Amino acid sequence: MFNIHTLTRFQQLETPFYYYDLNLLGKTLESCSAASAKYNFHVHYAMKANFNPKVLELVQSHGFGADCVSGGEVKAAIQYGFDKSKIVFAGVGKSDKEINEALDRDIFCFNVESVQELGIINNLAKAKNKMASVAIRINPNVDAHTHHFITTGLEENKFGVNTWELPAVVDALKKCDSLEFLGIHFHIGSQITDMEVYKNLCIKVNELQQWFLDNGLAIKVLNLGGGLGVDYHNPDENPIGDFESYFKVFHDNLDIKPNQEVHFELGRAFVAQSASLISRVLYVKNGINKNFLILDAGMTELIRPMLYQAYHEIENLSAAGRIENQESRIKNEEKNILTLDSGLFTRTKYDVVGPICESTDCFRKDVELPESFRGDLIVIRTAGAYGEVMASGYNLRDRVTSVYSE
Ligand SMILES: *Cc1c(COP(=O)(O)O)cnc(C)c1O
Repeated sequence: MFNIHTLTRFQQLETPFYYYDLNLLGKTLESCSAASAKYNFHVHYAMKANFNPKVLELVQSHGFGADCVSGGEVKAAIQYGFDKSKIVFAGVGKSDKEINEALDRDIFCFNVESVQELGIINNLAKAKNKMASVAIRINPNVDAHTHHFITTGLEENKFGVNTWELPAVVDALKKCDSLEFLGIHFHIGSQITDMEVYKNLCIKVNELQQWFLDNGLAIKVLNLGGGLGVDYHNPDENPIGDFESYFKVFHDNLDIKPNQEVHFELGRAFVAQSASLISRVLYVKNGINKNFLILDAGMTELIRPMLYQAYHEIENLSAAGRIENQESRIKNEEKNILTLDSGLFTRTKYDVVGPICESTDCFRKDVELPESFRGDLIVIRTAGAYGEVMASGYNLRDRVTSVYSE
């Protein structure tokens, strides 16, 4: 939610930029801490969602671990002060170089995604005279009921070991004397809002845990991955994800053994609501059946709509300001919240597009907005996760910058 002071501040800045609400991020982290502490759950932050320095500093300062998916992320996690005993490293294609560097850094655990990878990590660890701690990422074939572009736990997906390969995993683990088996790992997808999905995951995890016990392998760590979704349609009503319900589902449905650690890896739910992409209207172009708002931000700044058909709320902050002035004579000077729910102004449907030379460079079609003009500030909400991190230099564009709440 933006007020007249934010508008004034934004008007003086060059667009496009990401605007980070560090206050909301802090509150979100506290909410997650409190909800997970209730059950002694361990939470790692999935760095790939957002590795902006200020974000990493704040997440680290709240005591979370780091979930990394590349050697670069492992390196950054250490650099930003994450405790190496809280760093996990997943990824379907870890290179030898990445594995060696992670071994040198003595991370907590490799989440291993194939039988072949087990052998490679074992050999590399042996060469260093080290023990590598591993968890097996299992593909549980549980449907995440999310967009198929961000589903990871079905047999058709490339991630993890399939259940029919588990006997081979046990054989490999028994042969590999430079590996220490910690437990099992899952990550079935992203933007999951249906808690039934996690309940189904728990049922599968309980079965698999029993299978490992029956095969002589005790499990110290159950890692359930991440995926908790946020409300992209109502960012103001639901600025903080439902960590309470999320952790409760696992507490209620997982068969947790004495002294067993339960770990999670949350990315999106930490950061999504804490940032918006701010841009300006460059041109208003009227087509035959369509009106286009051409922004100075595009898929080079936020690719989620183009890559995943993702939905983002889009607001015209300048129009909100004009509406406010018109109706105004704002009675309550302190509150002063900008609103778009005004009948005073004509609303028009626009396809909100970027400047990139690709037809898919469209944030959303038929967005109903107050009449908009060149120079208006457009806010694209809930852009904190998988936003700035996916920015690219395509079309030789300048790298998007970031601005922080005061
Ligand atoms: C991306 C990822 C996560 C985080 O997913 P979110 O949907 O952002 O919570 C967790 N674990 C692994 C292995 C991942 O690749």
